Amino acid sequence: MVEIYDLHCHSTASDGALSPTEVIKRAHEQGVTSLALTDHDTIAGITEARTAAAASGIKLIPGIELSANWHDKCFHIVGLGIDPDYAPLAQATQTLQTVRLERAEKIAEKLEKKRIPGALEAVKRAAGDSMITRTHFADFLLSQHHVSTQQEAFDRYLARGKPAYVSTQWAELGQAINWITESGGVAVLAHPLRYKLTANWMKRLLTAFKEAGGQGIEVVTSRINADEIRLVADYATRFELTGSIGSDFHNPENQWVELGRLAPLPVHIKPVWELLEVRG
Ligand code: AMP
Ligand code: MN
Ligand code: MN
Ligand code: MN
Repeated sequence: MVEIYDLHCHSTASDGALSPTEVIKRAHEQGVTSLALTDHDTIAGITEARTAAAASGIKLIPGIELSANWHDKCFHIVGLGIDPDYAPLAQATQTLQTVRLERAEKIAEKLEKKRIPGALEAVKRAAGDSMITRTHFADFLLSQHHVSTQQEAFDRYLARGKPAYVSTQWAELGQAINWITESGGVAVLAHPLRYKLTANWMKRLLTAFKEAGGQGIEVVTSRINADEIRLVADYATRFELTGSIGSDFHNPENQWVELGRLAPLPVHIKPVWELLEVRG
């Protein structure tokens, strides 16, 4: 049987449009054999995903996508094969929910100053018990016709440097990596080219990431071309990191890429799933 890995995606536990059960079902329909659910700063979707995975025969890798600070910038660290019952990680997600709520209050205040009221109530309602993300704000701005696409909401209001941007104190990079590795997981640097780092800063980041115990890098992600895959694969080789593949799927309506529809990992790159299999 052909193994198809997709090791990065989102559900309604954070900013995905589908429930964990629906994500598993869709992944199965797309031929994915191993899926990691990696919601932003939460493990709340994993129990449901486990049940759905057992029913469909898909292998579920419990995951998370942690927001982390390094040199005052936010980076995303995917944790694969984490133990959702590991108390320090579970506690961290509780704290992060509060951090995200307080950030949401500040984003809403900034939108109000731009004469856009009602955002906080709307995103709280939309997120329910789940993590509030900027995607929820983008959807609110879209629904109120302040923008015509999600992308425009980020470009005009929510992205770094825009009027409703709030700089947030996430965990430090080393702390985020520790929560993952101490819970038995593998820390993977998510979508490395999305941070727009110079080659020099990328080297510094990967050095720090590796020193802190990071073991993988997403070589194949959505919206990345063959040259970019080669570039990231070179970083993987130079820094002795394993390679991961993840769609970062959020929404079937507004998708960057379908679940499981990704280029293969270059053959000379050691796959991150070899580490996961060793750990059982
Ligand atoms: P947050 O973690 O709350 O800051 O939200 C980050 C999420 O917003 C990312 O995971 C993406 O899903 C989404 N996002 C960030 N930048 C953009 C963008 N330019 N266009 C669309 N979605 C974005
Ligand atoms: Mn997201
Ligand atoms: Mn991300
Ligand atoms: Mn993601």
